[in-house]
Amino acid sequence: MVTVPFLDLKIQYESIEDEVMSAVKKVFSQAAFIGGDEVQKFEEEFANYSQAQYCVGVANGTDALWLALKALGVGQGDEVITAANTFIATVEAISAVGATPVLVDCDKSTYTIDVTKIEERITEKTRAVIPVHLYGQPADMDPIMNIAKNYNLKVVEDAAQAHGAEYKGKRVGSIGDIACFSFYPGKNLGAYGDGGAVVTHNQDLATKIRLLSQHGSIEKYVHEVPGYNSRLDGVQAAILRIKLKYIEEWTKMRRKNAEIYNNLLRNPEVTKPIEAEYSLHVFHLYVIRTKRRKAFISYLNDKGIQTGIHYPIPVHLSNAYKGLEIPIGTYPVAEKYGNDIVSLPLFPELTKEQIKFVSNAINNFDKDY
Ligand SMILES: *Cc1c(COP(=O)(O)O)cnc(C)c1O
Repeated sequence: MVTVPFLDLKIQYESIEDEVMSAVKKVFSQAAFIGGDEVQKFEEEFANYSQAQYCVGVANGTDALWLALKALGVGQGDEVITAANTFIATVEAISAVGATPVLVDCDKSTYTIDVTKIEERITEKTRAVIPVHLYGQPADMDPIMNIAKNYNLKVVEDAAQAHGAEYKGKRVGSIGDIACFSFYPGKNLGAYGDGGAVVTHNQDLATKIRLLSQHGSIEKYVHEVPGYNSRLDGVQAAILRIKLKYIEEWTKMRRKNAEIYNNLLRNPEVTKPIEAEYSLHVFHLYVIRTKRRKAFISYLNDKGIQTGIHYPIPVHLSNAYKGLEIPIGTYPVAEKYGNDIVSLPLFPELTKEQIKFVSNAINNFDKDY
């Protein structure tokens, strides 16, 4: 029996059901399925939310990433630097434009890209860096922006897990040249299907993404470049507009829940996540480490507590990227953490009682096991 689920999207749906259904009905009755008012309004509101000037809705976060690289002119023969411990989509986007992924280990305490190890990976072929705001915590952007300036590199923020997170008071999405968001249902701002967006201050880049994402055209049947089809649809945009009204509140609830875990967890075998001094962490995931992960997970599972691992295999050790021929030991922190990390249940609607139940179980892990 499940006592504490890892994620429950139904509770949130029930809390906004009436609003969502009437917004969806409106889209249906207007038959505004692709493009239209809701998409345009959502783009304006989400640009505003991310403190960026422009927003272009696309089909998903992975498309957002590769379209961003494409719009920046990154392609065959180029290298793009990112973190070894990201979700594979970041790296797939680099492959999708024909460029070569170059990986960097992660920071020991924040799990984001280790900014002290970026420079040593730069070559003449390097064109861009993709810092990932992993688990909802921004990467250390100042040093990254400095390196990018010195080496003339573009910065693409992978903000798929970090809607509304802040770096030194600035929202993610407003810092790099361009930023990519996912609205996959489980993300902090989740659609009821796939969705994504690119935000930027740069009008030229926004126009390029717009062109690429809809068959190379702004005006229907006038095609400027060979493009693709990657659009946010009207139903998803209408749902996202409803959810955007609540995201601040939900982020507060996530942060509050993380704080409750922080206060209650006191098993010395468990390393808790930290919020970097520079950051406002939005806790897409609450990730702890333990040396006895297998036992830990099955112990919690026996108590009905679901957990996740984000992610068990660093990109360079996955079958998908065997071709990079990066030997084990190259990214020691990412590799070690791949074996130690566990994501605990965390979502806005998780109750204090549930967090207490999980924390108590974890605090008794040694005694009981
Ligand atoms: C979810 C995610 C993506 C991809 O987004 P999709 O909408 O699922 O394509 C990219 N990067 C990171 C870090 C993610 O978590």
